[in-house]
Amino acid sequence: MTDQDAPTTDDLALTQPGLPADFAPLGQQFVYCPMCATELIYRELFDRLRQQCPACDWIHFQDPKVGAGVIAEQAGKVLLGRRGVNPGKGLWCFPSGFVEIDESPEEAAVREYKEETGLEVELTGLFDVYHFHSAVKGSGVLILYRGRIVAGRPSAMDDLAELAFFAPLELPPAAALAFDSNRQALIQWQQEKAAESKI
Ligand SMILES: [Zn+2]
Repeated sequence: MTDQDAPTTDDLALTQPGLPADFAPLGQQFVYCPMCATELIYRELFDRLRQQCPACDWIHFQDPKVGAGVIAEQAGKVLLGRRGVNPGKGLWCFPSGFVEIDESPEEAAVREYKEETGLEVELTGLFDVYHFHSAVKGSGVLILYRGRIVAGRPSAMDDLAELAFFAPLELPPAAALAFDSNRQALIQWQQEKAAESKI
């Protein structure tokens, strides 16, 4: 079989008998079993159609990815980074990234912060948790921690091209922010700062 003849997930979804006509699987679908390379089929499993291997019974559970980030202030201003790569190239976001299989979300948040900003942060609590689902980034959960910058000099690295501190009333406009989760978090932060200033 040449590559051209290899079935795509579209072919599988279209040719497998018994699937609902409007069935549109979410997220990335596989063609072959990653464990034994048999062609996968869709089966009703645990309340939804999932891909399963007819040979070894492996099931393709599609889980959200887990990301971790830090919202850290200095002199009442929050540090954001402008993305140097897609998704969201040129837009602002919190230093954040995906959690590796062998680390905790806290470790990932601190590691990503260092990798992207050159700064050491100490986590001081949980800010909030956000769910996202997009065609580009897939589905995931962002755990955003509060943190305090304890060492280092700001230097944009890795996915970020520029760093800047923003006061609550000088934040980039919503359209200049990279992700819905970040937009939502900054609105919350702004409200928090507004409440603090009234005390
Ligand atoms: Zn298999």
